Amino acid sequence: MRAATCAAPFARLADYLDGKLAASDQAGLEQHLAHCASCAAHVAWLRLVTGIMRADHSLEAPQATIQRAIALKQRLRPQPGLLERLVAALVYDSRSQLGLAGVRQSPTSSYQLLYRAGELDIDLQLFPRASGHWDVLGQALPAPAGLKVELWQGDSTLASAPASNYGEFRFPSLVPGQYRLALYTGQQQVDITDLVV
Ligand SMILES: [Zn+2]
Repeated sequence: MRAATCAAPFARLADYLDGKLAASDQAGLEQHLAHCASCAAHVAWLRLVTGIMRADHSLEAPQATIQRAIALKQRLRPQPGLLERLVAALVYDSRSQLGLAGVRQSPTSSYQLLYRAGELDIDLQLFPRASGHWDVLGQALPAPAGLKVELWQGDSTLASAPASNYGEFRFPSLVPGQYRLALYTGQQQVDITDLVV
């Protein structure tokens, strides 16, 4: 008999394991198991499961195990409506490339900052105005669809800007100070926490 077509009833295999079959049946099945990989696998599985259940002495254990498995699965899958929050790391500051021995470029010249968070690169160009205010031009790449950028200072939102299709955004005429940018991509919130203009 081919293993793939064998369908010995589970109850019969369970009875065999429990020693509930008549002696001749028991011997016959034993002989069958020696040649049928399918039934042998079922018996091995039954032996494992009944062994676990006997060792556990608890009927609620399987249910608890299922609940744990479901909880784990949900943790692995991002919950809709819950944003993954990342803090972007500064990877490039054009001001630090210019000076030798700590000499810095005049703070009235434009400069560039590059941040990275996961797969996202955020490029910031800062341009001074004659008034002493600064314009911030930013671009997030690869450009996330529907990107929205918020400018924060302390606990307040100062401005909110939708990005272009190329991931570009702009905050004009900022007073020098410390800011935070929050980029909302739909699945992620990416923060630039240490933006000093
Ligand atoms: Zn079989």
